[in-house]
Amino acid sequence: MQKGNISVQTENIFPIIKQFLYSDQEIFLRELISNAVDATNKLRTLSSKGEFKGEIGDTTIEIILDKENKTLTIRDKGIGMTEEEVQKYLNQVAFSSAAEFLEKYKDEANIIGHFGLGFYSAFMVAERVEAVTKSYQDGSTGVTWTCEGDPSYTIDGNDKTERGTDVVLHISSDSEEYLEDSRIEELLKKYCRFLPVSIKFGTKTESITEGEGDEAETKEIEVDNIINNTDPIWRKQPTELEDEDYRSFYNELYPFSPAPMFWIHLNIDYPFNLTGVLYFPKLANSFEVQKNKIQLYSNQVYVTDDVKEIVPEFLTLLHGVIDSPDIPLNVSRSYLQADQNVKKITGYITRKVADKLNELFKKDRKDYESKWGDLGVFVKYGMISEEKFNDKAEKFALLTNTEGEFSTIAEYKEKIKDTQTDKHDKIIHLYTNNPVDHDSAIQACKNRGYDVLVLDHVIDNHFLQHLEQKQGDTTFVRVDSDTVDNLVQKDETTESVLSEDEQNKVKERFEKVTEKGGGTIVMKAMSPEDPPVMVTKPEFMRRMKEMQAMQGMSMDAFPDMFNVVVNTNHPLLANKLLKMRSEEKKENLVQYLYDLALLNQNMLKGADLTAFVNRSLDFLK
Ligand code: ADP
Repeated sequence: MQKGNISVQTENIFPIIKQFLYSDQEIFLRELISNAVDATNKLRTLSSKGEFKGEIGDTTIEIILDKENKTLTIRDKGIGMTEEEVQKYLNQVAFSSAAEFLEKYKDEANIIGHFGLGFYSAFMVAERVEAVTKSYQDGSTGVTWTCEGDPSYTIDGNDKTERGTDVVLHISSDSEEYLEDSRIEELLKKYCRFLPVSIKFGTKTESITEGEGDEAETKEIEVDNIINNTDPIWRKQPTELEDEDYRSFYNELYPFSPAPMFWIHLNIDYPFNLTGVLYFPKLANSFEVQKNKIQLYSNQVYVTDDVKEIVPEFLTLLHGVIDSPDIPLNVSRSYLQADQNVKKITGYITRKVADKLNELFKKDRKDYESKWGDLGVFVKYGMISEEKFNDKAEKFALLTNTEGEFSTIAEYKEKIKDTQTDKHDKIIHLYTNNPVDHDSAIQACKNRGYDVLVLDHVIDNHFLQHLEQKQGDTTFVRVDSDTVDNLVQKDETTESVLSEDEQNKVKERFEKVTEKGGGTIVMKAMSPEDPPVMVTKPEFMRRMKEMQAMQGMSMDAFPDMFNVVVNTNHPLLANKLLKMRSEEKKENLVQYLYDLALLNQNMLKGADLTAFVNRSLDFLK
């Protein structure tokens, strides 16, 4: 037996390893299994080059728990190591790369998936580690390396007969969770689900049916519990795959989720290597909950599901897998965004997504429209946040009106420009964010032959401002807004049937009511069919408030300003109000019309509403 010290350096890295990444210790298993996979792949490579002439045989990697002896073993049938290699790789290479890693990241908790600590990560959970190994090379004998979490190690011979390496972890008392089957199974499912070499963890029982009809017999048999799918679809060529393959893979990734709408297969090897499948989930109105479902892999090894530095924010609404060995993983996250490769990758994914949407839009517009409810949020989010996506998406982003008709941005402008251009040559896009509450205002607009859009998602506020900025000739005006007037006045030819004197009388009456209840009176000659009194809100003020609310600020900073628009052409004024004798009746009618207008905007509340109901009942009596 040989004894020695791993390093002549003075600093002892073991206590640091032990404490490093307290929350992320579990990655030790991924690191060790990755080594086992590498060792297996190296053997396959040697074999294909003719440098290894023996039988490769079954290369399944086994994970073995021994609760009695408190060990966890990772067993591979890969290339193994000779004594020289143990000296070189475990004592020198692995040690110095772990030391280097720790030196670099001691104070940096922010590395993607904590990738790259390597073999020595074993000491995060083990008080003693043994590597029991035998090289594939002819004539080599077994070697056992042991280290107890301090710089001294021993190397001894053993009588191992099979090629490969067992890494035996003697789990320390404060890490006993790693002696639980369920915990190990959980980690294997998380990190090893798509590794390219089979991983076995114990056995499981499976029922099989033999024979047919009455003869049929169901038997329970023990089979290997294989954790992983070694050949996930993202590694295959799109031409080899059917829609069904993509759907069932989605189901494998996210069991119990509704089927995805469609997907994109990413497959590029120059100027960087990246494969993956991204799915468009059904988003509907949910938004936040679905984020962070993209999994990042590096050569089929799971890294993280937090990919916000790698894909643009809006794409984190997508689901699926990205696999790229070209994303630097042992750098800090903040560095990633500046990385040239990552920039290229981000651009590539964005372009692919835009191209796919464009293709769907062009291929089957009706079908695309039917999906807009789920796609809209995503596309709008992308347009707002990503310049390059915006430029492409302007062609396939849709607007919906109250009739449920869809138009692209350009089509819609064409549709309304003759009737809805104001005196400053802005094309006014009328919209509602609440078709139910705005019903009367919508009807009033429609009566004038205007079209009304429905923009009722939280994102739409941002979206319409974005469009106003991008499309110089466009303004959005909510149907209950006072600026609807700009449009109305332009082509309003109706003269007021009330004389100026009569108008003043009416105005005075309304002023008494607004003094108490609020609002600024606007006298306007509208169609006799329009309501006698309407409430409109200053567009600018409303937007300010909405922005404030969105930033979590109090909405009280601005008082609730509104206009009370009196339609001087409404028959109730000329034929009724002005002809009434009783002062009291006149007052009542004006109050009633005012209340109705507020009620229509959901602005009549509390005691005012009660008084209104009582007054109405009195009328009926
Ligand atoms: P890395 O895998 O990044 O090279 P590690 O510290 O994980 O760094 O491992 C160091 C070296 O030890 C590996 O490059 C490999 O040569 C050797 N090694 C580790 N585990 C095994 C194994 N299971 N079989 C064969 N060689 C291994």
